[in-house]
Amino acid sequence: MLNAKIPDGPLEKKWKNYQEHCKLVNPANKKKLDVIVIGTGLSGAPAAATLGELGYNVKVFFFQDTARRAHSVAAQGGINASKNYQNDGDNVFRHFYDTLKGGDFRSREANTYRLAEISANVIDQAVAQGVPFAREYGGVLANRSFGGVQVKRTFYAQGQTGQQMLLGAYSVLMRQIGLGHVKSYNRHEMLELVVIDGKARGIIARNLITGEIERHSAHAVILASGGYGKIYYLSTLAIGSNASAAWKAHRKGAFMAGVSWVQFHPTCLPQSGDYQSKLTLMSEALRNDGRIWVPKLKGDDRFPNDIPEEERDYYLERKYPAFGNLAPRDIASRSAKEQIDAGKGVGPNKNAVYLDFKDAIKEYGAEEIGDRYGNLFRMYEKITGMSPYKQPMMISPAAHFTMGGLWVDYELMTTIQGLYAVGEANFSDHGANRLGANSLLQASVDGYFIVPVTIGNYLSNEIRTGKIPTDTPEFDKAEEDAVERLKKFISIKGTKSAEYYHKQLGKIMFHHVGVSRNKKGIEEGIKLIRELREDFWTNLKVPGGIYEVNSELEKAGRVADFLELAELMAHDAYDRDESCGAHFREEYQTEDGEALRNDDEYMYVSAWEYTGYGKTPKLHKEELTFEVVKPSVRSYK
Ligand SMILES: Cc1cc2nc3c(=O)[nH]c(=O)nc-3n(C[C@H](O)[C@H](O)[C@H](O)COP(=O)(O)OP(=O)(O)OC[C@H]3O[C@@H](n4cnc5c(N)ncnc54)[C@H](O)[C@@H]3O)c2cc1C
Repeated sequence: MLNAKIPDGPLEKKWKNYQEHCKLVNPANKKKLDVIVIGTGLSGAPAAATLGELGYNVKVFFFQDTARRAHSVAAQGGINASKNYQNDGDNVFRHFYDTLKGGDFRSREANTYRLAEISANVIDQAVAQGVPFAREYGGVLANRSFGGVQVKRTFYAQGQTGQQMLLGAYSVLMRQIGLGHVKSYNRHEMLELVVIDGKARGIIARNLITGEIERHSAHAVILASGGYGKIYYLSTLAIGSNASAAWKAHRKGAFMAGVSWVQFHPTCLPQSGDYQSKLTLMSEALRNDGRIWVPKLKGDDRFPNDIPEEERDYYLERKYPAFGNLAPRDIASRSAKEQIDAGKGVGPNKNAVYLDFKDAIKEYGAEEIGDRYGNLFRMYEKITGMSPYKQPMMISPAAHFTMGGLWVDYELMTTIQGLYAVGEANFSDHGANRLGANSLLQASVDGYFIVPVTIGNYLSNEIRTGKIPTDTPEFDKAEEDAVERLKKFISIKGTKSAEYYHKQLGKIMFHHVGVSRNKKGIEEGIKLIRELREDFWTNLKVPGGIYEVNSELEKAGRVADFLELAELMAHDAYDRDESCGAHFREEYQTEDGEALRNDDEYMYVSAWEYTGYGKTPKLHKEELTFEVVKPSVRSYK
């Protein structure tokens, strides 16, 4: 049984108790300790900057050219914090409860409470950095609603919240780089984790410009490497987003948890052809004012504005009157898929539903709606040539966020001593489904406020260790393994690109481990994944060499890892004989098609141990106990 090391005491005092009793490293000793951070998104940049400010020697690695381009930059809609500026009944407990319920009671109470508890600090931190959150007329920060809640707790900077917050984090990171406390390694990719005597002690990285293989040691390593939704190929994530850092850690002993819990976002632009490598997200904020509908008549080809009210089905408002268009993402995505599968999809490929602003424009005027969503409307029009002011948008569900990831305890430490995972890379606080705008929050909270405290508890035992040498057998072996793998990719000399395999894998995952799953489909998926993996290692073509810029080589490594992770995801989905949150197993549903949980048998987090290439992973369980909230049937009706 896994021990999450949850502190004693009542829920609202646990984090306080932890901070009052954890060990500290005194300022003079911090200089003797090295920390590696992988990633500069909204979890990595804050972690690196804060640890630098505290006095540790930090090295930060990322594969983009600048830290500002980490994928957090793409986040649009906002960040949650229970500050209750609206006086609409919000508070920390309600934020915690909404998050726990939104995740279908499959997250740890203590972590979820801490997320809500620290949320207000993140906003203060960002405002102090100059993040230009939207404001009301009187100057108070403005809020809007996101799915799964009945209050307004989402802070936003138009539709560019991630970008603005990342600029704030980037500026504090650059300050530490300027002061010499943090050393930055752009265009570097972590290829291997080095573990010595059970402790994370460094990494092997490849300089993506020269191809040089480098060794870097540290007393602790923090993975802030983001989520793995790109495994579906078509997703809202950037093309470079990948699972490799987490997967390398998994192969070295870090368990992965809830890996099949993937969020499909309901408001994305539908796929328009086979040539696409990414799908565009339209922020969930649009569901504050947009109404979702499909024609009642199957295959209705009329122009949407010509379809009269009585011939439209506002299916979310009909099925979930209490939350309506703001039903949580898993429910909204599944409902859209149901309509599309039932032949009521709209658009040229019949793979979308409408999101209509007609009523909102009538009520508030086009100018006010433009103030709220102007940049999103412009983006939509630029891509589709259609104006949401004049006709409804067309939207469709797409892979977006991974609730699963590296298993971490309360301190955010993985099952490898001294290896931490923060942000989307960990299995996190969202259970089986994440509520909108809680992810920027989790990333920021992990990076600014949690890991800088908890890492001290571990590093206080490392002050006498001294510098970690890189000429040890463990570093030799890790480097050999990394180079051998790169050589192998190039030596196959087949005929198909890594992109080809990624695309095929995406299709398998979407159909067999997608918005909804069933036992037979998953079995078939596992067979197809294995066949594709075998073909990859026989017919892959990677041109060029190792010691040069080689984006095909980079892709090959990431796709190879996706091909292994995919099987673990399928396995995880297969093993959980219940529906919960985004994990909708078709065999387990109520008469009216809602998810049917099985608390008696599955009230645990599945954490998987790697047992070898192609071998069945070993299941470890973290039982979930609810001391404050009684898990109930999740209803938004
Ligand atoms: C289109 C879009 C819109 C979103 N909108 C919202 C929103 O409005 N609100 C919200 O709360 N959430 C939103 N999310 C989710 C949220 O943006 C992410 O969950 C969050 O930003 C992840 O931050 P992160 O720090 O964990 O990872 P990321 O920002 O993805 O950063 C990952 C970092 O790891 C580095 N890295 C990865 N692998 C390696 C490696 N092997 N070697 C070296 N470096 C590596 C990368 O270079 C990068 O710096 C959105 C997501 C998407 C895709």
